[in-house]
Amino acid sequence: MSEFKNSLPFMLKTSIRGGISLRRWACAVLFWSVANPVWALDAVVLQLKWEHSYQFAGYYMAQALGYYRDEGLAVELREGGPGVDYVAEVVGNRAHYATGTPSLLIDRQQGKPVVLLSVIFQHAPDILAVAKSAGIMSPQQLVGKKIMVKQNNQTPAVLAMLLNETGSLAHFDFLDQTNDLDGLMVGKFAAIAVYSTEQPYYFQQRGFPITELKPINYGIDFYGDNLFTSEQEIATHPERAQAFLRASLKGWAYAMAHPDETIAVIKNVGSKHSGGHLYFEYQAMQDLLLPTLVPLGHSNAGRWRNIADTYVRLGLLKPDYALSGFVYDPNPTVEISRFYRYLYVAAALAGVLAFFIFALLAFNYHLQREIRRRKQMEARLQLNEEKLSTLFQFSPTGMAYTDFTSRQFIDVNPALQDMTGYTRDELLTMNYLDITAQEYRPDNIAQVEVMAQTGRFGPFEKEYVRKDGGRVSVLVNGFILHDHTGRKVSWALVEDITASKKAQQELLLAKEAAEFASRAKSEFLTNVSHELRTPLHTILGFSQLLAMGGLAAAEEQKMAVGHIMTSGKQLLGLINEILDLSRIESDQFELRLETFTLSPLLDETVALMSPTAAERGLTLSQGCYSDIAVRADFSRLRQVLLNLLSNAIKYNRDGGTVNLFCVIDGDVVRISVVDSGLGIAAADQAALFQPFQRLGAEKKGIEGTGIGLVVCKRLIEAMQGSIHFNSTIGVGSHFWVDLPIAVGEKVAESLPVVQISAFSPSCPEKISGRVIYIDDCVINTNVMRHVFRRLPDVELLIREDAESGLAQICQYRPDLILMDINLPGMSGLEALHLLKANPATAAIPVIAVSAAAMPNVIKEGLQAGFLAYLTKPFDVAELIALVSKTLAKHRV
Ligand code: ADP
Repeated sequence: MSEFKNSLPFMLKTSIRGGISLRRWACAVLFWSVANPVWALDAVVLQLKWEHSYQFAGYYMAQALGYYRDEGLAVELREGGPGVDYVAEVVGNRAHYATGTPSLLIDRQQGKPVVLLSVIFQHAPDILAVAKSAGIMSPQQLVGKKIMVKQNNQTPAVLAMLLNETGSLAHFDFLDQTNDLDGLMVGKFAAIAVYSTEQPYYFQQRGFPITELKPINYGIDFYGDNLFTSEQEIATHPERAQAFLRASLKGWAYAMAHPDETIAVIKNVGSKHSGGHLYFEYQAMQDLLLPTLVPLGHSNAGRWRNIADTYVRLGLLKPDYALSGFVYDPNPTVEISRFYRYLYVAAALAGVLAFFIFALLAFNYHLQREIRRRKQMEARLQLNEEKLSTLFQFSPTGMAYTDFTSRQFIDVNPALQDMTGYTRDELLTMNYLDITAQEYRPDNIAQVEVMAQTGRFGPFEKEYVRKDGGRVSVLVNGFILHDHTGRKVSWALVEDITASKKAQQELLLAKEAAEFASRAKSEFLTNVSHELRTPLHTILGFSQLLAMGGLAAAEEQKMAVGHIMTSGKQLLGLINEILDLSRIESDQFELRLETFTLSPLLDETVALMSPTAAERGLTLSQGCYSDIAVRADFSRLRQVLLNLLSNAIKYNRDGGTVNLFCVIDGDVVRISVVDSGLGIAAADQAALFQPFQRLGAEKKGIEGTGIGLVVCKRLIEAMQGSIHFNSTIGVGSHFWVDLPIAVGEKVAESLPVVQISAFSPSCPEKISGRVIYIDDCVINTNVMRHVFRRLPDVELLIREDAESGLAQICQYRPDLILMDINLPGMSGLEALHLLKANPATAAIPVIAVSAAAMPNVIKEGLQAGFLAYLTKPFDVAELIALVSKTLAKHRV
C-alpha cells in the first residue's frame, strides 16, 4: 500500500511536469487499476547505491511505465547516498535488490550472500581527473604526486590502472576521497578519482579543463554498475527475481532510448541534478552501457575472472575467490568441474547402485531359478503324489498305512477294503490283528518285531477273516518309515493269494492223484498180469495136456475143457471191465435215463447172483417196496448192483449173508447191499473207489481187478446219484446207492430184462443154407469151421479177404455172410457198403464178427447195415442161435 501511495501521485506529478499527455497517463492509470489491483502486487524494495541520477534511469522508467507492475511487482525505489550501505541493506533483508559495483566480489568473498543479477554498465565509469593544465597524460606522470582516491573498493579500476602502469601503488600519495572537486582546481592534489558520467560535468560547468585518465585505455576494463540481490531472494523467489530483472532491463532500454522523458521522470523523483547534468550523464553512459552494441544486462565469466584477478593483485580479494554462484543464472548450467565431480560421485553412486542392482539381479536370478526349481519340484511332487494317489486308489494290491505302535489303520486302499469286506471307515477303527485269523497272529507279531529291527518285514503269508466270516489268504510285505510328525508308521502291501493258493493246492492234489494213479497203474499192470496169467495158465496147461493126449479119459477131457472155458470167460470179463472203465473215464458212454420201478431189477440181480452165493453157502436176500421207482439207466444200474452183490459175495465168509434192499430217504431212493463179510480196514478205506486198488484182496486169491467200484461210482454220479459205504473189519460192509426218486413220472412199461435162459448148444431145429465167412485169421476160421459142424446142413465157404469173398457171392449166392472188419485190403465195412449198394446183393444179411469191440465201432457197423455185430470171442451158442435164426428167416 505504501507503493500505491507513493507511485500514483508520483506518476501524476511526472506527467504534468514532463508534459506527457494526460490522456495517456489516465489510460495507464485506468489500465493499472483494472489489470493490477494493488493488493495483488508483490512489494519489493530496490536500494539505489547513490542519489537519484541518470545512473539509475532504467529503474525509474520501469517504475514509471508500469513494467514492474506488469510483472506483478510493487517496487519501492530507495535513494542511496553517503552513509547508505546498499550491500548491508540487501544482506540484512531490508531491501530485496540493489545496484552495486564489481566490488561485490569482495563482499561475496567476505561471506555476504550477494548474487549478481545483471551488469548494467559494460565498462566502469571510474576515471582519474587531472588538471589539463598539469600536462599529465599518463598514470606514470602521477608518480610521487597526491591523488585523491580512497584505497577501498570504490574505485578499484583506477587503482588497478595506477598499479599496472607504475608497478606499485606505493609511488603515489593517496588522499581520502572527500569529493573535493574544487581541490583539484586549486591544486591541492594532482588527480582525483571521479565517475566519467558525473563530475566532469562539474569541471565543465566551471570552465576547468581536465584530462581524463581512463583505466580502459590502460587495459583495465571493469564492469560498471550492476543489479544484485541476495541468495535468499534467489532461493525463495526465483521467479520474482527474474520478473524484476526483466522489467528493469525493459526500463533501461526505454531510458537509454528516451533521454528527455527519462530526465523528466528522474527530476520528478527528486533528483537534485539539473536537466543538463542529467543529460551529460546520459551521454556519458552511452559509452558505458553500449545499449546498441551489447544486450542490456550481458556479462561474461571471463571478464569477471579478470576483474577478480585484478582485485587480487590490488590486495582487495584473496586468491581463493570463487565465481560460482556469484552471477545469477536463470537457466543454470552446471560448472564442468563440478559436473565432473558430480559425474564422479554419480558414477561412484551409479557403480555402487550398479553393484547393488547387479547383486540384486544376481540374487533375483538365483531366487527366480530357485523358485523355478522349487516350482518344478513342486510340480514333480504333485505329479508323484497324483501317481501315488492313483496307484493307491486303483492298485489291485491291498495297501495299508498303519501306526506302528498301536497297529491301528491310518489309511487303507479300496483293494484292501474289497479283500476284507470292511469299509474304509470300519477298517480305520481297527488294527491289523483284528482282521488277522487267530492262528496267524503270533507269527504276525513276530514279523513286526523283525520289522522293528530291520525296517522291513515279509513276505509272509497269513489269512484275513473277512467281515462275512470267510477267509482270504494274503501275502504281506511292509516297511517302516516316519511321518512328518516323526511318528513311526508302516506301509503294508497285501496281495490276495487265495486263488493261487487254491490252484497250488489243486496242483498238489493233481500231482498226488497223478502219482497215485501212476502207482495204481503199476499195481494194475501187476494185477492184470496176474489176472491174465492165472486163466491163461489154466487154458494153456489143459490145452497142452489135451494136445499131448495126456487126458485120455472122457471125464478128464471134459473137466479140462470146462477149466479152459471158465478161464477164457474170466479173461473176457477182465477185458470187458477194462474197456468199460476206459470208456467211462473218457466220457465215451451214453446213459439212457428212464423211470422204472426197482423191485424187478433187484429180483433179477438177486436171481443172477444166487448161484454164486449158493456156491459159498451164503444167504442172499432182497427187500424192496414194489412201487419204488427211480430215474436211472436201467442196464447201468443193474451193472452197478451186480458189482456190489458180487463184491458182497466175494469178500464174504462162508455161510455169511448178503442183503439187498431199498428205502426212500427224502428225495432219494437208497439201495443198500449189506454183507457180513471181511470188512475193510479203516486205513484202506480212503483208497476205495480208486482205480486198480484191491486193498490186498489179490493176496487172498480173490478174483478181481480193482476196477468195479470206480466204474460204479462214475456211473451212479452220471445218473445224478451218489455211492457211499461204511465198513467194519471182521463185521462186514454196507454199500449203498442214492438215486433221485421218480415222483409222478411215467414208469416204463417194458424193461429190458435179460433172458437168463442161455442158448442151447445144440441146434433147436434143422437149419440149412449157404454161408460165406470172410476172415483172414486162420485160427478164427478153424474155430468157425468147427462151430459150423454143429450145423451139418449149412454150407460154409471161407474166404480170407473181402475181395475174394465178394467175387464168390454171385456164383455162390449165400444166404448169409459173416464178415470180419479188419481185413487185408478192403475192410469188412467197405465190403458191406458194396454189397448194400448192389441190388443183387443188397438183401443178403451180413453179420459182423469182429474183435473190434468199441461201442462206437459197433454202432457205426450197425448203422452201415450189418444185421448184427458179434464181438470176438463170441459165445458159440449165441452164434449158432443167431445164424440159425437168420437163415430161418432169410432163407429163400
Ligand atoms: P475187485 O473186486 O475186482 O477187486 P472192486 O473195485 O469191486 O474190485 O473192489 C475193490 C476192492 O475193494 C476189492 O478188491 C476189495 O478189497 C474191496 N471190497 C469191495 N467190496 C468189498 C466188500 N463188500 N467187503 C470187503 N471188501 C470189499
